[in-house]
Parts: sequence; C-alpha cells; structure tokens
Amino acid sequence: MDINGKGDSVDELKGLRITNLDDDDDENIAVDEDDNGEDEDDDDEEEQESVILGFIEKPEHSWSLLRQQFPSKAGGVPAWLDPDNLPTGMTCVCDACGEPLQFLLQVYAPLVEKDSTFHRTLFVFMCLSMKCLLRDQHEQWKRHPDKQSRSVKVFRCQLPRANSFYSSKPPEGNATDKPLTPGAPLCNWCGTWKGDKFCSSCKVARYCSQKHQVMHWRAGHKLECQQLSLSPQSSDSNACHGGVAQIKAPKVASKSLWPEYEMKNEHESEYDTEMSGDEEHTDNSLIPRNKVDDTMKSLMDTFEGDGDKKSWASFQERIGKAPEQVLRYCRSAGSKPLWPILGGRPSKADIPICGYCGGHLCFEFQILPQLLYYFGVKNDAESLDWATIAVYTCEASCEGVGYKQEFAWVQLGTAINCPS
Ligand SMILES: [Zn+2]
Ligand SMILES: [Zn+2]
Ligand SMILES: [Zn+2]
Ligand SMILES: [Zn+2]
Repeated sequence: MDINGKGDSVDELKGLRITNLDDDDDENIAVDEDDNGEDEDDDDEEEQESVILGFIEKPEHSWSLLRQQFPSKAGGVPAWLDPDNLPTGMTCVCDACGEPLQFLLQVYAPLVEKDSTFHRTLFVFMCLSMKCLLRDQHEQWKRHPDKQSRSVKVFRCQLPRANSFYSSKPPEGNATDKPLTPGAPLCNWCGTWKGDKFCSSCKVARYCSQKHQVMHWRAGHKLECQQLSLSPQSSDSNACHGGVAQIKAPKVASKSLWPEYEMKNEHESEYDTEMSGDEEHTDNSLIPRNKVDDTMKSLMDTFEGDGDKKSWASFQERIGKAPEQVLRYCRSAGSKPLWPILGGRPSKADIPICGYCGGHLCFEFQILPQLLYYFGVKNDAESLDWATIAVYTCEASCEGVGYKQEFAWVQLGTAINCPS
C-alpha cells in the first residue's frame, strides 16, 4: 500500500501522530552503531538525533481522545486501539501486589514501512505503589529471568489500514467519527480493563477483577445495584445495545484515575534557537515554568555522587529547552534515552529480546517525571517518583493479534543509586 504517497493528507488530519523520523537521519545512524557497547560515554552523539517531544494539555473536545481519533494521551482511561482483544488476566495486574495496573499514557506511533503498522499505539501502565516500583527495580536488574515480575508494563498494538475496527479513511477529526465496532465492555470501576466479570446480584455491572468489584460496592454500587436489577437495560454504560457503536467515553466510577490530558508533539529542534527567555512555547502550558522546575530540583537534591550531578546538569540543560515536555520520542536506529543520572542505566545485556519473535528491542521513547506534576502526585517519600522510564519495543514491530508486552526500564532518582 502506498502509504507514503498519502502521508501528507493523513498527517494533516492527525496532528498528534508521531511518525518515523526523516529517512536520511536514520540511515546515517544505522551504520555505525551496531556493535558499539552501550556503556561508553558517548552522550554527545545524542545531540545529532532528532527527538520528538510530547507535551500535554487539557483536551479541547470531549471526543478528541476517543479511540477512533487515534490519540496520544496521558491519564484517564486508555483509548484501546484494538478494542476487542485486550490484555487479560495476570498481564493487567501489578506482579508485586496484584492490584490492577493504572493507565499512565499512550503514544500513537505508526510505522510507515509496513502495512501491518499503519496504526500502532504503545500503552504504558503502572502500579500506584512506590513500594512496588522499588521491588520492580530489583526485578529489572535480574537478567532474563523466566518471568520478571513488574509493576510497570508496556503494551504494543498495531493494525493494518484495512481492519474490522476502523474505517480505512482518516478520521474527520470531529464528533461524527465513529468506530466500526463497539469493542469489548470495560470494567465499570476502572474503565481500563476488560469487564469480563459480572456483579452477581444485578448482573449488569462489569468488572475486571474482584478488587474493583469490591471498590465499586463500597463506593456506592451497593445502593445502585438494586435499582439496576429492576431495570437492567437502561444502565450499562459500556455494553453495546442493538449494535450501536460506542461513540462516547465509558463511564468510570473510580475517582483515583489520573487526570486526563491530550498529548501533542513537536520536534525538539524547534526549540534550539529559543533557549533563553522565550515565552512563546509556554503560552498554552497549564503550569508556570518555575513550578515544573521545582519538581525537577527536588529530584536533584537527592543525588549524592558528582557524576550524577554532572549527568543531571546536562540532562537539565537539554530538557531546559522545553521544560514542560513529558515525553521524548526517538525510534531511529541507535537512538538512546537521555539518562538523567549515570547510575541505574541498563547495558545492552539488560535489555531482553522480544518475547514473541526473538528479535532485538530498540529504544522508542522515554517518560519524564514532569508528568507526575501534571497528575498532581504528591512529592513525598511514599509517592510515586522516577527519574525516567525508557520504553524499548520490538525492532521489527512483529505481527500478531491484540497486545504484545514490551519492555520498560525505570531509572529511579534515589534508592538504587544512592543507598542510604
Ligand atoms: Zn503493586
Ligand atoms: Zn477494573
Ligand atoms: Zn450489582
Ligand atoms: Zn518481536
């Protein structure tokens, strides 16, 4: 399929899509990076790479984050790309505590080189518990165990242009866009995972897990349940009645989801000439720049080693071009994360192979701790915190139905690098 020929018109309708970077950049980097060790101090090379930055803002329209718009978004519920074949069972829970994972963000990142990745979205979930994230650290350092038990999980989903869920035409980008199918009903509590368990008394409310059923019961379903039993067809927010496709976001009872944002992206190079004193790019920001800086400074206070301070300073300088960025995307061959600190970086051997095709994983994007500020996460010892989360995905973006689990490397600001 001639995707390139249609690229422009598709891009116009998809301001949010993150596509592959320019071809000439990719080829140059691909040649010399193959056998180099990951541990050399070659941070300067990163300067050459074209990075796309992700920024978040409140969505302009209620429909703009629905799955038929192929959004990149943070917080709220995931806009599942394949709405039927969702992850189920133990893949949806924190392996440390067993709680269903919470949706962090998703990045719409189609790859133009093959039709099977015409649509492609990466989803990141994590457990809310910092204790679990600390345990996760021990797991991620174990090289290739049979099964790592993780509290951060990444899923990749991809669809060809012609698929049974969406029109092959680009969305209009307005409220009239509809998916072709309603998708699997979701949990009434979290709105995130498949609701394949029913409340046994009303048989209407659906849940991903018993934990969420209990939460909903305590939060008010106890009362609601009797009414639902009397008039079941008027109440189920997720189920499809008479084949009408879901066009609205599902109703979610949980109040503890992170606030929902739309993610927009810009090339980092656009910030190169405006390093000091520009207000242009902060205009539509929700948060004054000095607030974001505070979050970052408090992280710096926890570093002890000089190496980490130096590394942090150069990280800060790079991030400082656009301090509101929450995500850095760069899926070109040989691209690397921008590590905030020296310690706690993976070597090549720490990155597993693809669990499906056995091929290499490559770095695709990293999430910055600024996101926690937008989410209103408290800045104390108990609360979630990280220096960066680097996501590695199958280089071949291998085929298959539904969701494939990819690999996240979490670098913490403290704990691992500065044992007290
Ligand atoms: Zn957990
Ligand atoms: Zn749930
Ligand atoms: Zn019920
Ligand atoms: Zn693979």
